[in-house]
Amino acid sequence: MNEHKSGLLIILSGPSGVGKGTIRQQIISNKDLNLFYSVSMTTRKCRPGEKDGVDYYFVSKEEFQKNIDNGNLLEWAEFVNNRYGTPKDKIDEQLKLGKNVLLEIETLGAEQVLKKCQGMNLLSIFVIPPSLEELENRIRNRGTEDEKVINERINKARLEMPKQDLYQYKVVNDNLENACQQIIDIIKQRINE
Ligand code: 5GP
Repeated sequence: MNEHKSGLLIILSGPSGVGKGTIRQQIISNKDLNLFYSVSMTTRKCRPGEKDGVDYYFVSKEEFQKNIDNGNLLEWAEFVNNRYGTPKDKIDEQLKLGKNVLLEIETLGAEQVLKKCQGMNLLSIFVIPPSLEELENRIRNRGTEDEKVINERINKARLEMPKQDLYQYKVVNDNLENACQQIIDIIKQRINE
């Protein structure tokens, strides 16, 4: 027989600057996890080093709106003056193929997925910074945004932190290697259940 289990939909969330992107990059290549990373769509400008279609699909505001209107997004949210969303098309296909689909998204989008995908094979993980001071340092030291945007992201992080109780698992990122290992263990445990 050629039947296989459909995949797990994994939400990796947490405040901006907590290290979700770095964690995602570290775990994505772990063959045992059989992951498919869902590349998001955004109206944010491409940062140096980022690649269209790899880090994000970088689109205009008009194109993003068209995707909302056509029902192409599983979820979307406004985050510090830009929009971010998850294209639906590949998700069902990859889950059916048995891939575990990883969404790396902020908390408003995560809440939409938690609501819409109730009853699905869903895993939700919230990454917590060691402290808000440390989070501020990380956002500042990244050097990717100007002062105004940095402050907006810090304010946003304060709003995102209380959302952590909506998630099945919480992982403190005080040490990247440990945080990645904990997340790998959580995913492995779920896919082996
Ligand atoms: P950044 O501009 O730093 O790449 O992303 C800003 C925030 O948007 C981060 O918290 C990131 O995880 C989140 N984000 C990235 N893609 C998506 C998406 O498709 N949907 C939602 N809701 N948030 C996203």
